Amino acid sequence: MSIRFELIIFFLIISVLPLSAVVYISYDHSKVAIRDSVMTNLLVATENTGRAIDDWMAARRDDIRIISTIAGNTEKGKLQEYLYTFENEHQGVYEEFFLLNSDGNITFSTLNRTGNAGKEQYFIEAAQGKMYISDVSLSGITGLPEIIITNPVKENDTITEILCARVSMENLYTVIESIDIGKLGEIFIVNNKGELIFHQNRSKILLEKINNNFAVKEVTYEKRGVGEYINYKGEAVLGSYYWLPLYRWGLIVEKNKNEAYTEVLSLERLMVGISIIAVFCVVILAFFLSKRLTKPIKSLKDGANGLVRGQFKTISVSSSNEIGELTEIFNQTAIELLDIRKKLETKIEIANKDLEEKNRELIDANDELKKLDSLKSDFISLVSHELKTPLSAIRTSAEFLESENINASLVDKEMLENIIMSVDRLTRMVNDILDLSKIEAGKMEYHFEQVNFHEIAKVALENIQPLAKKKNIKVSVDIPGNLSPILGDREKLIIVLNNLLSNALKFTHNEGRILLSAKDDQDNIMVRVEDNGIGMQNDKLVKIFDKFYQVDSTSRRKIGGSGLGLSISSGIIKAHGSEICVESEPGGGSTFFFRLKTFGE
Ligand code: ADP
Repeated sequence: MSIRFELIIFFLIISVLPLSAVVYISYDHSKVAIRDSVMTNLLVATENTGRAIDDWMAARRDDIRIISTIAGNTEKGKLQEYLYTFENEHQGVYEEFFLLNSDGNITFSTLNRTGNAGKEQYFIEAAQGKMYISDVSLSGITGLPEIIITNPVKENDTITEILCARVSMENLYTVIESIDIGKLGEIFIVNNKGELIFHQNRSKILLEKINNNFAVKEVTYEKRGVGEYINYKGEAVLGSYYWLPLYRWGLIVEKNKNEAYTEVLSLERLMVGISIIAVFCVVILAFFLSKRLTKPIKSLKDGANGLVRGQFKTISVSSSNEIGELTEIFNQTAIELLDIRKKLETKIEIANKDLEEKNRELIDANDELKKLDSLKSDFISLVSHELKTPLSAIRTSAEFLESENINASLVDKEMLENIIMSVDRLTRMVNDILDLSKIEAGKMEYHFEQVNFHEIAKVALENIQPLAKKKNIKVSVDIPGNLSPILGDREKLIIVLNNLLSNALKFTHNEGRILLSAKDDQDNIMVRVEDNGIGMQNDKLVKIFDKFYQVDSTSRRKIGGSGLGLSISSGIIKAHGSEICVESEPGGGSTFFFRLKTFGE
């Protein structure tokens, strides 16, 4: 869940909950107040109406009582005239005044009616000396609801006749109908049997009976009050009921609950509206506030992502609060991190290069090892071959000497010479190997001193003389007499010249030529050994200084050699601070040359 969403929820909770509580409490209080007010108004209106009915009926009773008194003291003609006048004055209230004699016969009627009412309840009751008010009934004359009030007319306490008044209820109804019951309300009066004696809809009067109504039940129990209930039509109503004991009437005023509570409903709508607007405002406010609060956090997040990808851009500090401080710290940290990263990258790059270098060295070392391995194989085959040849020669010579038939001393001598030569050859080879291993191990000992090159050239030339004669090769020397003395190891330089001259002899055909020359060359002398022998291809010239390398293995068989001579010579000349170079071409002879430092320079 994002911080922004959480903030919105938080704002909603802290604002909407108290707001809802306040709205609900005030709504509830207002609702109760409005309800109480509606109930009270209804009850008051009902009671006022009930009292108005009482007053109206009391006025009728008073009228009848007064007229009865007047009738007892007034002559007939005047009474009749008075009754007409009274009826006219109370038009709409009294429909008829009539008088009954002791038999119930009508002796006078303002409607000029005749007849007998001797069996009527109102006659029987009044004849017993008391005022009587009938139940509401539909008038036989007008067809409208009416009551009949009767009262005895007395002369000297003797009932002479009965005064009857037919009272129209319409006049009373106008009083009742003045109660405000709204459009959907209902107002009615029932008698103690539940029969309707008043209703807005006149056609229901005395024709319908209402029993299953809370108010009707209450009122027929002679109670007064107000309540909320479901009326006989199944509608929720506020009902007020008022019992008129004198007439055994129950006045019931019902207001439709929804209509009565219109104010409550509009209050409810108002409160809901206020709540919705408040929630909406809170959401908008929370939206903008959370945006403002989370914007720098989002920038920090984007910055951190950029940092991860190595594309960090500093975040602008938009506020001076804790988040602003955090942003500044983040920027500094990011810059430092990027710096560290750059340094690390450089170090890694260097380490990689080192690794590559080491790898290359390892590859080279591996190649070297392979080379050494093949050299070792070469060496073993060469040594075994080179050792086999002189050894078999020694064996053949020895067997020959052992043979009994052999007496000739000449042959003996030749055999012995062979043995000596082979032993010498083996000795040379072993010495060569020992010298080379010393050179390579850096353990060769040198005794540098002033050396006259003539001396060493002389020794070397003497060494090759026998073979040169044998091959009839002309060996020339070109060394000036005043050649500068050199700084070198005499014995080692003799070995070098021996090797180069014996190679020149080996690889030059019979009757060939060899030239050993030396001359001053600035602070050095330049020594050259030239022959007009078989020569070498250009690509072999670098390899001939390698150990055991021989250009032609077949020639090796014929000529012999270990392939170590040039390696040893090269090592010795290097120890003298110089290098042996070679120029050659196949069939065109070879020239080996090197410089030696003159003594004292
Ligand atoms: P080796 O004992 O075979 O002479 P070296 O180390 O002295 O060993 O020489 C290596 C090889 O160089 C020889 O086997 C030969 O093939 C070649 N080589 C040396 N000197 C000459 C030369 N003067 N003319 C032609 N080839 C030569």
